[in-house]
Amino acid sequence: IIRFDNVVKKFGDTIVLRELDFQVAPGERVTLIGPSGSGKTTILRLLMTLEKPDGGCIRVDGQPLCHVPHGDGFRPADEKHLRQARKSVGMVFQQFNLFPNMTVLRNITEAPVRVLGTDRAEAERKARELLDRVGLSDKADARPHQLSGGQQQRVAIARALAMEPKVLLLDEVTSALDPELVAGVLDVLREIADSTDITMLIVTHEMHFARDVSHRVMMFDEGKVIEQGPPEQIFTEPEHDRTRSFLRAVV
Ligand code: ATP
Repeated sequence: IIRFDNVVKKFGDTIVLRELDFQVAPGERVTLIGPSGSGKTTILRLLMTLEKPDGGCIRVDGQPLCHVPHGDGFRPADEKHLRQARKSVGMVFQQFNLFPNMTVLRNITEAPVRVLGTDRAEAERKARELLDRVGLSDKADARPHQLSGGQQQRVAIARALAMEPKVLLLDEVTSALDPELVAGVLDVLREIADSTDITMLIVTHEMHFARDVSHRVMMFDEGKVIEQGPPEQIFTEPEHDRTRSFLRAVV
């Protein structure tokens, strides 16, 4: 459902991704690990179309997000593909990014109503179901500032799910939380992983969580995958010194 072919991304003179190739199958849950600056967040931002690749091709649910073969050369993927791809992907950020002046319910219903054209009553019914699922059914009318960080992050998860994405991107979603609020957010994500077949691409430093929910762990360094495999293998018998030293530093 996700495919990177020879993807290159630069910021000025810094090459962040170097001809990166990988694929993620539908329903697969993949965790990206690696040192700060290795390009993990950039991969998620490319998938959200918040960044454009400088080379190679990214496909999401069959839609090309970059230059596609055309005649003898290439032409940019058009807006239609980008829009379709955006609909397939939802993202939860480190800094919740809720709309501060909207109620919790409105935060969740806004995109389905505006982007998908869902009827407001139906969007609200679904939003309440999602709030129940993330343990916040009593907070529908609250504003984000009245909630704890953990509660805000659970609203952000409900908001992403309201768009019924095929792929959920999680970018260090517990890093900004007080330690006692982390478990509640991870429990919600575990429940979603257990009860749906949504594809997940996860960037996290929570190695226990990564081990519990992922089918595969990919270790990045300097814009390349240096090692990948099932979590048991990567966490207990990594092949690369780089992976070993990284894991010693974070666990
Ligand atoms: P972290 O764990 O610290 O979030 P990461 O592996 O997610 O790291 P990225 O955030 O993808 O790494 O960043 C990769 C590199 O790209 C870093 O060197 C970063 O400074 C650089 N970078 C990212 N975004 C931009 C930007 N908008 N402009 C310039 N440089 C950027």
